[in-house]
Amino acid sequence: MNPASLQPASPQPPASQPLDLIILGAGAAGMMAAIACGEAAMHNGWPMPRMTILEKNARPGIKVLVCGGGRCNLTNAGDIDFLIAQFGRNGRFLSPALRHFDNAALRAWFAAQGEPTHEEHDGKIYPDSNQARTVVDAMVRRMAQLGVLCHAGPTRAATQIQWNVTSKLFTVCTADDTTFQSRYLLICVGGQSYTRMGTTGDGYRFAESLGHHIITPRPAIVPLLCRESWVAQLQGVAVPDVEVRIETPGPLPRLATGKPTPSINDLLFTHFGLSGPAVLNLSEIVAELLEKFTPVPLRVDFLRRHSRPQLSAMLHTWHDESGRKLVKTMLAQLLPQRLAEMLCHLSDIPPDQPCAALTARQMHTLSEYLKACRFHVHQTRGFQEAMVTAGGVRLSQVNPNTMQSRLNPHLFLAGEILDLTGPSGGYNLQLAFSTGRLAGWTIAQCLANG
Ligand SMILES: Cc1cc2nc3c(=O)[nH]c(=O)nc-3n(C[C@H](O)[C@H](O)[C@H](O)COP(=O)(O)OP(=O)(O)OC[C@H]3O[C@@H](n4cnc5c(N)ncnc54)[C@H](O)[C@@H]3O)c2cc1C
Repeated sequence: MNPASLQPASPQPPASQPLDLIILGAGAAGMMAAIACGEAAMHNGWPMPRMTILEKNARPGIKVLVCGGGRCNLTNAGDIDFLIAQFGRNGRFLSPALRHFDNAALRAWFAAQGEPTHEEHDGKIYPDSNQARTVVDAMVRRMAQLGVLCHAGPTRAATQIQWNVTSKLFTVCTADDTTFQSRYLLICVGGQSYTRMGTTGDGYRFAESLGHHIITPRPAIVPLLCRESWVAQLQGVAVPDVEVRIETPGPLPRLATGKPTPSINDLLFTHFGLSGPAVLNLSEIVAELLEKFTPVPLRVDFLRRHSRPQLSAMLHTWHDESGRKLVKTMLAQLLPQRLAEMLCHLSDIPPDQPCAALTARQMHTLSEYLKACRFHVHQTRGFQEAMVTAGGVRLSQVNPNTMQSRLNPHLFLAGEILDLTGPSGGYNLQLAFSTGRLAGWTIAQCLANG
């Protein structure tokens, strides 16, 4: 559906008359908030709120379109406690939003819009269409049914916000110098990662201008650059089920994230370093540590299902019973071939060396590379490539039961702009949908109560 064709079902007020609600950002949170606001009014027989979304991109939901590689991993099947745990120390903030609209409710909502979903590996939930496009279409369709007006395009980007304490109205100025006024304002313009998708950190400036404190944003779910130049030769090699640990000289410093390590998942070698979920899910912690020291050492266990004694016994069996086979050939039964060859090379095992010629020293060095391969991370790929932004609006200034600012009851905040970050796996979209839904529903109630 062409969003430009989104027409209000109910008449919009003349330009001079304030709106009930302005939503900044038509991403996952903003669209769900608008829908919730309209659905709450419809279900309760309240007057339909006069609301407008201002969106910087030419169309709503552009970032959702790239989610999950274009397939949109829209939530995760874990129970509420599991979902909360994924967000580390700040996760408890999400409890009311998830109880208001959890993953089951989200899936039921999309199913009711003709978008059934299914579960895949690691509890990841995808639309049956396997296309993010249909997820966005379903939301845009529902907004049109509810009469939500969306002004989209670079000229409609919000540039400035003012709150008039006497008239109790917000004035939002857009890039083309148009002004909009409203009784309530919901800011859900996302973070400052993947800036080419319109998310350039504007929301932090807006929130700060309204008195909110911003926890320093940093890139999260982001690939890492490491000093080991040999990784470039393995570009594109994916290694399933590895364990990645951060290895600091002393105890790990107390981290703001409060997130667990190690990380167990798949690892991907890139031309500059490391990626894949096992690394991406640790990257927020690494980014925080890089502010304290460089490089941050990582230790990777490529064969986490083999204990060291088991591995040693296996190498001796190769030596004794498969002596004519090449070491790299035996290793390639356990690991991707290119990685097997590289680890042999690093262990000073020539490509044509048979197992019978394995020395005790080679076995020891190879075991070290297999069980505790060291990488030294000196940088992340930054906001340009980070999937989400850690940090954001300080949670103690937002009421978790409503998403209402504690500084101004007419102001609401939802989605990635908040100081909440989950790992990859559908958690961040669920965060956006749940907080957006709760904000929209609460605003409808506030409007109904006058
Ligand atoms: C490549 C990639 C893949 C991802 N895959 C997944 C996945 O599969 N599952 C998952 O859970 N999460 C995924 N994420 C994360 C997910 O996209 C975000 O967590 C989620 O979109 C945040 O929702 P939001 O509504 O808070 O912000 P956004 O979806 O970022 O929406 C914010 C909107 O605000 C608009 N905006 C910004 N500034 C202004 C302004 N000044 N005025 C008006 N509008 C403005 C932006 O254009 C944008 O449309 C992925 C992210 C990336 C980058």
